[in-house]
Amino acid sequence: MAQELIISISGMRGIIGENMFPETAAEYGAAFGTFLKRSQSGKRPVVAIGRDSRPSGSMIFCAVASGLASVGVDVIDLGICTTPGVGVMLRHLECSGGVVITASHNPLPYNGIKFLLGNGIAPPKPMAESIRSLYFDKQFDRVNSVDCGKVSANEGAAAVHLEKVLSIINPSQIAAKKFKVVLDSVNGAGGPVGLELLDKLGCVVTPVNTEPTGLFAHGAEPTEQNLVSLSEQVRQAKADIGFAQDPDADRLALVDEKGRYIGEEFTLALVARYMFDRNPGGAAAANLSTSRMIDDIAAKAGGKVIRTAVGEANVAEAMVKNKCMIGGEGNGGVIDLRVGPIRDSLVGMALILQLMAQTGQTLSQLADAVGGYAMYKTKYTANGEQAARIIEKARRIYPDAQVNTSDGCRFDFADGWLHIRTSNTEPIMRVILETKDPAAAKRYLETIESLCRDVLK
Ligand code: MG
Repeated sequence: MAQELIISISGMRGIIGENMFPETAAEYGAAFGTFLKRSQSGKRPVVAIGRDSRPSGSMIFCAVASGLASVGVDVIDLGICTTPGVGVMLRHLECSGGVVITASHNPLPYNGIKFLLGNGIAPPKPMAESIRSLYFDKQFDRVNSVDCGKVSANEGAAAVHLEKVLSIINPSQIAAKKFKVVLDSVNGAGGPVGLELLDKLGCVVTPVNTEPTGLFAHGAEPTEQNLVSLSEQVRQAKADIGFAQDPDADRLALVDEKGRYIGEEFTLALVARYMFDRNPGGAAAANLSTSRMIDDIAAKAGGKVIRTAVGEANVAEAMVKNKCMIGGEGNGGVIDLRVGPIRDSLVGMALILQLMAQTGQTLSQLADAVGGYAMYKTKYTANGEQAARIIEKARRIYPDAQVNTSDGCRFDFADGWLHIRTSNTEPIMRVILETKDPAAAKRYLETIESLCRDVLK
């Protein structure tokens, strides 16, 4: 059976030619345009649109742009552009909103549409629900011929984005190190701008899959199994570091100078290490499923970490509210508000290289100094009510744990933590556990397993 088109609060995602068509995309664009018009009465909205490198991107762009124009919204076409690049441009051009056409790390047959408000952050849940209702109720404020939106192009995203990223580091300090870097962009949108950044930082680069063809050379998610070839290339090139971006370049995974995949959790942790070194009393934000490494780093510096529900917009909002100097998610997504409230692999690369330049340490030394944890992830088929019962039972078993219930329940113990949450898009309950001691991990996992057997039998 064909999969259903997913229209959740985080946007639309589907398979091109199977459940995602230009008609669908145009109506989704018209819904977003109608929402923007109604929420800023009188002002003619302008929306910037960027897309990752998937071959279906230009078709979906034309459809979304025509949907927006049909309700009287002007469109700026940013062409192939990273997700953080769209965020930077829509603020630079003072747009009312932005659209990113990407299915992120999903395979080539997929594409997706995500909306951003004028502040560069995804619409919060109530607004996302209104856009969804407008789409399903087909309530579009269509306009006549004279008032139709106009579409223009702007090719300046990479330059504006790079200028912002370069402004948060010391490029000449990095350039003096002449770092050898392997960059794997999986032929997504991040290749050209990523190479330009590394060039400006004086790095000697081995480019891998940096052509934005959208024909992904390996699995698009920057996981260990998908980056075996990157590890090999780092060893062969005797490089200092390997960077891997996902197709829309908001996530960044790291490979150390030994060719060891050290993964995505370390991206935020090491960037946080740099920021807390600079500003020990500062604040950081991370979602509840992110490694405790960032808490260890903050505690050592005398700073603090604000934990949020999973989802980029939740982290970004907490960062703005609490004036956080850094934030993000354990999937390699780093947010620095000086560049924009969006996860940004270019920010990640720049700050990691700055940390290496400043400390004079290798990536493996830096990673080993903050690491030592192991993370375990499992999932169960469970609905919200079943998940709530499992959480309730777990709370009785662990009465002394510190709990955070802003997204499912996170239990913090002296020797690790456990996060139980349900998915927003499917009837799945995720369990994420992190400890340093494998024996403790086994005990926690067995306990949860037995609770699940009990409730889900
Ligand atoms: Mg992504």
